[in-house]
Amino acid sequence: SAFAELGLCPELVATLDALEYRAPTPIQIQAIPLVLAGHDLIAEAQTGTGKTAGFALPMIERLSRIPASGDYHPIRGLILTPTRELAQQVGEHTLAYGQLLGMRVISIFGGVRFDNQIRKMKRGADILVATPGRLLDMLKQKKLSLEQLEMLVFDEADRMLDLGFIGEIRELLTHMPAQRQTLLFSATLNDSVEVLADKLLQNPKRVAI
Ligand code: AMP
Repeated sequence: SAFAELGLCPELVATLDALEYRAPTPIQIQAIPLVLAGHDLIAEAQTGTGKTAGFALPMIERLSRIPASGDYHPIRGLILTPTRELAQQVGEHTLAYGQLLGMRVISIFGGVRFDNQIRKMKRGADILVATPGRLLDMLKQKKLSLEQLEMLVFDEADRMLDLGFIGEIRELLTHMPAQRQTLLFSATLNDSVEVLADKLLQNPKRVAI
């Protein structure tokens, strides 16, 4: 299949076949090989282009190559979204993509009970999908750690900045290893997104659709 040619393993190819994804979309064709090769990435892509699979599939692929060994799974992939609706939706998609590979995917966001989300995190998660504010609350209360983080994704970075999350983003970064792969997805690349990208990414590749 064309997904296998992009470098995805047979389990992911089978999952996409079951979801009736017949062929990768243009953003997926461009982004997936670059992410699998370990590059930082700036991707200009709107909703509806298949951008979620563009970052979630290669993240799952990379993390599943060295699975977590113990009962507790440290967070190795983090996807930040501007809104709880998006966190929920991206979380559901990522969970579906990673199920066959045993990826533990958890979403946390504001507006729901804190203690329920803490309970969900008890055995850890390979991939966490989160809104910045709630994630910061949990980090400050030491309910989770990002010390093992390998991959970070900003989904809809322009909206995140429009909603005024720059302070939270800066503070979140202090909880993460500097050595990591970072992907920034944004519908538009305005000056403030470029400034953020400049701070966060190392020698990024660029794709646009
Ligand atoms: P997104 O742009 O990530 O919000 O995705 C838009 C919709 O396209 C979602 O419902 C996905 O499930 C679907 N989708 C993503 N990639 C593909 C694909 N390669 N083939 C068919 N549907 C897809």
